[in-house]
Amino acid sequence: MTGWVQNTNENVLIRISGKPLDTDRFLVSLRQEAPPASVIEEITHREIEPEVFPNFSILHSHDVSDEITEISPDIAVCKECLDDMEKEGSRLNYAFVNCTNCGPRFTIIRDLPYDRDKTTMKQFTMCPDCSNEYKSITDRRFHAQPTACACCGPHYELFVKGQKISEVIEVIVDLVSDCLENEGIALIKGLGGMHLACDAFSETSVEKLREMKKRDGKPFAVMFRDLETLKNYAMVDETEALSLSSWRSPIVLLKLKNLSDQPFLAAGINSGLNLIGAMLPYMPFHYLLFRQLNTSAIVLTSGNFSSEPILISNQAAIEQFTPFADVIVLHNRDIFNRTDDSVVRIAGGIERILRRSRGYAPAAVRTALNLDGILAFGAELTNCFCLGKGHKAFLSQHIGDLKGLETTRFYEQSLTQFLQLFRVKPSLLAVDLHPEYISTKTAQHYGDLPVISVQHHHAHIASCMAEHHLDEKVIGVAMDGTGYGDDGHIWGSEFLLCDLNDYIRITHFEYLPLPGGDMAAEEPWRMAVSYLYKIFGSDFLKLNLPFFNQLDPDKVDMIVKMIDRKINCPLTSGAGRLFDAVASLIGVCQTATFQAEGPMRLESLVEDDCIESYAFELDQTIRFDATIRGIVEDLSRGTDVKLIASKFHNTIISVIFESANAIRIRENVNNLVLSGGVFQNKYLLEGTIALLRKNDFNVYTHAVVPANDGGIALGQLAVASKRREHKCV
Ligand code: ZN
Ligand code: ZN
Ligand code: FE
Repeated sequence: MTGWVQNTNENVLIRISGKPLDTDRFLVSLRQEAPPASVIEEITHREIEPEVFPNFSILHSHDVSDEITEISPDIAVCKECLDDMEKEGSRLNYAFVNCTNCGPRFTIIRDLPYDRDKTTMKQFTMCPDCSNEYKSITDRRFHAQPTACACCGPHYELFVKGQKISEVIEVIVDLVSDCLENEGIALIKGLGGMHLACDAFSETSVEKLREMKKRDGKPFAVMFRDLETLKNYAMVDETEALSLSSWRSPIVLLKLKNLSDQPFLAAGINSGLNLIGAMLPYMPFHYLLFRQLNTSAIVLTSGNFSSEPILISNQAAIEQFTPFADVIVLHNRDIFNRTDDSVVRIAGGIERILRRSRGYAPAAVRTALNLDGILAFGAELTNCFCLGKGHKAFLSQHIGDLKGLETTRFYEQSLTQFLQLFRVKPSLLAVDLHPEYISTKTAQHYGDLPVISVQHHHAHIASCMAEHHLDEKVIGVAMDGTGYGDDGHIWGSEFLLCDLNDYIRITHFEYLPLPGGDMAAEEPWRMAVSYLYKIFGSDFLKLNLPFFNQLDPDKVDMIVKMIDRKINCPLTSGAGRLFDAVASLIGVCQTATFQAEGPMRLESLVEDDCIESYAFELDQTIRFDATIRGIVEDLSRGTDVKLIASKFHNTIISVIFESANAIRIRENVNNLVLSGGVFQNKYLLEGTIALLRKNDFNVYTHAVVPANDGGIALGQLAVASKRREHKCV
């Protein structure tokens, strides 16, 4: 067959001429033989006047309009390219090998349409061989924009103490592997930013790494040699294996096995949790490294100091890490769009994105709404922003916590880059109701545009609704940490009757003082004291609770005074705070060294076969006096904390069902949407879905958009779109 194909901003145009049987087969094969990382939205075709073409060719891309071609996320190196690295020739051990089925995309794209000179590969002129492959229609590298070989492409460089030691890949891999096996730390430039690496079996190096990053106790991700090796350490079911091996190659949260015959991973990796964030090699360099390494797993965590975004600049890497890292491995392919490793967890047999970045962003989220020209600024922590174009929502890569100056800069830069890349001129802005969020304030720099404020938990629910194309009345259950409520209190356990436009708050967990505000999220014991004091009064100190030994009596006294005098004690209904209180009560977390440590430790203790639960009261609000009393009794009886944690989780599942059911009976609404960061808890999510479905609810949950604050911006976008439609702007 002959003809041509052209990449436009709107779509791909193909003109094809051949025998009817062949053209029919062509249409079928377009779908059937599409590369794994492709998404075909729609194919339309029609017959036209016959034309004669000399061959089949690719025509130059034109800027057709401001409509867009989507940007592909980055793709893990493919099997064929790995094979090419084994063959004699200019790709032997060449760590930037890629083809049309794999390689960097979003991270190197400066502008659209996607052509080499609009990527950071522009500076590398193809050698005659690469150029021939690039032009040859039957070649796997036909029009592979980042294609390269050792003769013409980028290369790695290794630095020690600020001095360049080598540019030879075999030498570099050797030295890095030596470094890692001798308890050293390596900084390695990756696809979307720098990584810090060390041997995952060496307690010493893991401790060293933690100190270097000035990082809290937040678990480190671990890259395993291959799936088979990983299975020795963690439980991997079929869906988890699929995610791990997919072209997106995310970090997958897995349950650790009880090891007997395997060497132990360093305990410092995950601070004693029974979960591990595991991933498999996805860059050619990772494969070269594991070929050399004896150790079968390395810690691979983002190269930055905690609270800063992942580093992308070579110069900054040398400047900041020369005093700390034993070796620094850089390359000269620039990173334009910074991405972190994405994190997913399988729950209910479905992949749920917890951190959406490399491999996922900036793929569009398709909705049924007119989102055109809306820019949503997201939340404050775990920020992502979101841009509307037609029916599509472009959710940014994970930005992070907008507290550090560097992260805020990354946020502002990415906003500018997205607007340019996707050619959107915003006409409507959407922000969180919280007036003090940096994201909310950033919107003020966007000129005199109408701004819509969206309540945090309404945005959570709307985000899940948008994901499922729901546009009707639903029961929204948002189980969350904190979010600004329309009564000025801190919400976070909201049962809403809502549609995309508006909500009514039906019920929530009873308000309790949050002693010290934000400090209480970092020190779970404060909420434990808050609950005990509320339920038992000042007698609570006479209770026989082992966790008192872990507390400073003076501080406890101070908290009680703060509550009495209402000093810095905002009211909260946050579900996360109840989890914190229970984690503290049973003695597993008094001071959190990372976000949601208390709840994660609590979940870590749950045993699947427990069916018991505690009592609670549903009134105007949801009260946990009986629950806490039950836990206190169990504790003073010396009950196993695993049983207590399990009973507590079951209690929350019942609370959700009972509360939702009461709303269903009264309002006759059967669609139920679950959102909020608490639903990253696998046991809770699976248990809640099961109980609700058993009782015939239509349950909707997050999959492609995070249930945590990383998904908020999509919800803000959806609400803004609906309000604009209803002319509430
Ligand atoms: Zn490939
Ligand atoms: Zn070449
Ligand atoms: Fe939230």
